[in-house]
Amino acid sequence: MPAIATCTQCGSELNPTPGQLFVTCRSCGAAVYIDRSQVVFHFVLEPTVDEAHARGLLARWMAGNDTVKDLDRKATVQSGTFQYFPLWYFKRTEAKGYAVMLEPAAATSISELRRLQLPAGDLKSYDTHLDGQSVEPTVPLEAALEWAGQQGVPRERITEAALVHVPLYTFKYLFNGQSYTTLIEAATGKAMANLFPAKAEAPYQVAGAITAVVFLVLALFPVAGLMMNESAFGFAVLLCLGLGAVAAVPLFMLAAWIAAKV
Ligand SMILES: [Zn+2]
Repeated sequence: MPAIATCTQCGSELNPTPGQLFVTCRSCGAAVYIDRSQVVFHFVLEPTVDEAHARGLLARWMAGNDTVKDLDRKATVQSGTFQYFPLWYFKRTEAKGYAVMLEPAAATSISELRRLQLPAGDLKSYDTHLDGQSVEPTVPLEAALEWAGQQGVPRERITEAALVHVPLYTFKYLFNGQSYTTLIEAATGKAMANLFPAKAEAPYQVAGAITAVVFLVLALFPVAGLMMNESAFGFAVLLCLGLGAVAAVPLFMLAAWIAAKV
């Protein structure tokens, strides 16, 4: 912790008790976080989604297009827990205005958290009453700044650093004997998962290849006819169109069957 921790907002000395990281300034009431290297503002994003709603959003994500068909019915949700998860929040200057970068401030397997959209206006001062539900940061600010540097953003361009706790539901579910995790961010309702039972692409690729081969062969008929004579060419064109129309039916049915099953 810095030798003398002073408030980011008013400059007063903070005098935290030993080990205290989340501090409210006695002079001005600002919520701050005392990192090893410096004191930063501490925000919280307030949830708008309760657990029942979050479960509904999870089911909708499972029924959506990214996941394997009928995952909402085939998966068994085992647990749902609520926590405020810490993110380092960096503002960096851009040619036009600024951009926000996020880096998880605690261990997580969900790297998608970096792509959360945090509406700046919705960030509230952190309230220490939330401590019981908050995950403590384990990634030091310095390490997060180093990560930003690796992303090509030197720290001179970072004009503001803050700690933000975001409300998250963590759902664990079973599918085909495998355990998976999906997060529902409880301010916007966004679903996030790194690993999930995805739609298989192979059957579509096989059906596409069969279709391509069938029509390529049919297209060779007129070419062969052209090499013989005019009437053979006319006959070959008709044959090609006729067989093409006939072949389209089972090929279409194959595609529809795959879409229904996968
Ligand atoms: Zn203050």
